[in-house]
Amino acid sequence: MSKKILVMPGDGIGPEIVAEAVKVLNAVNKKFDLGISTDEALVGGSAYDVHGDPLPEVSLEKARAADAILFGSIGGPKWDTIERDKRPERGLLRLRSSLGLFANLRPAILFPQLASASSLKPEIVSGLDILIVRELTGGIYFGQPRGIRVENGERVGFNTDVYNESEIRRIGRVAFELAMVRDKKLLSVDKANVLEVTELWKEVITSMAAEYPEVQVSHMYVDNAAMQLVRAPKQFDVIVTGNLFGDILSDEAAMLTGSIGMLPSASLDENRKGLYEPCHGSAPDIAGQGIANPLATILSLSMLLRYSLERADVADVIEKAVEQVLEGGLRTADIWTEGCRKVGTAEMGDAVVAALG
Ligand code: NAD
Repeated sequence: MSKKILVMPGDGIGPEIVAEAVKVLNAVNKKFDLGISTDEALVGGSAYDVHGDPLPEVSLEKARAADAILFGSIGGPKWDTIERDKRPERGLLRLRSSLGLFANLRPAILFPQLASASSLKPEIVSGLDILIVRELTGGIYFGQPRGIRVENGERVGFNTDVYNESEIRRIGRVAFELAMVRDKKLLSVDKANVLEVTELWKEVITSMAAEYPEVQVSHMYVDNAAMQLVRAPKQFDVIVTGNLFGDILSDEAAMLTGSIGMLPSASLDENRKGLYEPCHGSAPDIAGQGIANPLATILSLSMLLRYSLERADVADVIEKAVEQVLEGGLRTADIWTEGCRKVGTAEMGDAVVAALG
């Protein structure tokens, strides 16, 4: 295979954590003879500083030409006051929409070694492995009409939650297929008792179940799903839902694991080309100190290999290496507990490379 990965380190801790993921990428590329070539491009504030644009054409072109993108993080106080459409976040939003990345995958995995980092009891979360599939380019975040208007002398704010059948089917297909390669359990989350848009959502997902007879499909209202996620989260395997509910539930599920520095994500298009990034931001408070946790970015690389490059075998090796390093007691400051050895960003990356065997 000859595949191109575009590396976009971004701002803040982005370059530090991405450098560690690139070490792992270079190591597996060599070890498994993957034939991957890499290129690098500016994005976010660092791109604005050079080009006056958080997503310059040259970066977008490289992103279009790549098979997958490994992304760090963007943003920081330095760019908080520049004009709105030049801010770093706009660069990322434009990148997602330009590439048609409609499926957002956020695993919430709790390595047993980190069970004490969760605010829930270890027996409730230890070994947790949920995948939330969120529709990313439709629903109420994009629906028209929207705005604030004046009616009868007072202001009225309004948005539109809208999905057509093909949008639901498109994200449904991603979720069913992921369920097929996991525990074959799919939960669709809606509010069909109140919102017609999610009544349609439920109908379409239900109609798709016949195509995937091995997948056990269930439905839950979003309020109950939010409750069940903290009551008994291990009952879930894959959860599929719309943009708004997915935004909230994926953050809730992420927090079950206790540390934002451990959580990877993927955003995919229809051909499984994807942008892979840690769930956290650019952490300006610790940038440049060499103490950020690179594991979310390393695990994002593992998702890249699993979903865009279809090398689940290599992804498994990386995830096992991370687990082995945690088992050995190495921790960055954000996940450190008594009795473990505190290490910096680079030492953690080196340890994962060494654990690849
Ligand atoms: P943040 O995720 O950057 O940081 C929140 C807290 O978590 C901080 O205390 C930080 O030190 C810590 N943290 C985050 N990642 C860590 C890691 N890998 N290792 C150790 N500790 C880590 O969120 P924020 O402070 O709200 O935002 C900071 C900047 O990041 C803002 O400019 C925001 O717009 C941007 N942001 C970018 C993205 C993205 O790139 N996709 C996402 C969220 C926020």
